[in-house]
Amino acid sequence: MQTSLDHTMLASGVTMTTARGQRPGPTLALLGGVHGDEDEGVLAVLQVLHELRDAELAGTVRAVAPAHPAAWAAASRTSPLDGADLARSFPGDGGSQTAAIAAGLTDGVIADADLLVDLHSAGRRYRMPLFCGFVQWRSGAEQSERAALAFGAPLVWAHSAVAPGRSVSVAIERGIPAIYAESSGGGSIRSDQLEVYVRGVLSVLAEFGMLPAPFRRRPVSGPRWVYDGGDLDAGVAARHDGLFVSTVNAGAVVGSGEEVGRLYSYAGELLETITTPSDGMVMFLRRQARTRAGEVLFALGRVESGAVG
Ligand SMILES: [Zn+2]
Repeated sequence: MQTSLDHTMLASGVTMTTARGQRPGPTLALLGGVHGDEDEGVLAVLQVLHELRDAELAGTVRAVAPAHPAAWAAASRTSPLDGADLARSFPGDGGSQTAAIAAGLTDGVIADADLLVDLHSAGRRYRMPLFCGFVQWRSGAEQSERAALAFGAPLVWAHSAVAPGRSVSVAIERGIPAIYAESSGGGSIRSDQLEVYVRGVLSVLAEFGMLPAPFRRRPVSGPRWVYDGGDLDAGVAARHDGLFVSTVNAGAVVGSGEEVGRLYSYAGELLETITTPSDGMVMFLRRQARTRAGEVLFALGRVESGAVG
């Protein structure tokens, strides 16, 4: 059985690939490369489409990767054309190129889908542990959690709310279940993390009846859970320009008041010792040393008491 793949042009040169199964079923919206410096999701989406060509697909997969071709060509988190962050531009409008791309993705890919999977990573400037996130909110939450567990990442981050502008926020505002994934970034791709992304998406498709049951991933042990937070813009920011030196790794579980890193001036003097405002897991950590005042250095997720260690 062969799955047909069609290509459609959305706004601003964005190409959507539609995989149509031979049997009816749900529609999955699949995004990679919403941030142009995150190659993991782009390659994973392409590999998923490759797998689907010869698979018995029921329903439709609408895939866009890279979601922002200009940002991807520049290997930049934000657009080189208008400076905008696509992941802060949803649902979008005709205002700027990035806003037009967001509107094209909202209307052409996400709007009437049954589920959204958005594959991100820490990109070039940050570090993150491999995890799958979703929002415990509104009517789609139960299906989002089901998808997050089916994805099979070792860590699941359940948010109590989501800030506006994200693909996930426009999906859940429309009652569409949504998950996203993050991995270590740094401009490189780890084969084990790529494998989790590709197998994870196929497993979600199997969970929702779109692929045969053997595609459903069964991790050896259940995931570890992290809660709250998730608005990375609201993390702890640098108070000075300088060079950031991290003292922990992404994924580290830290106590309240623990050192996460140090900020040095360009003259080499210690400006700030960066400490945690509470205990939790380091979910987002600056990788790039050169830092401007106001840029986020790290963000924490809450781990259940008793799970610390
Ligand atoms: Zn991203």
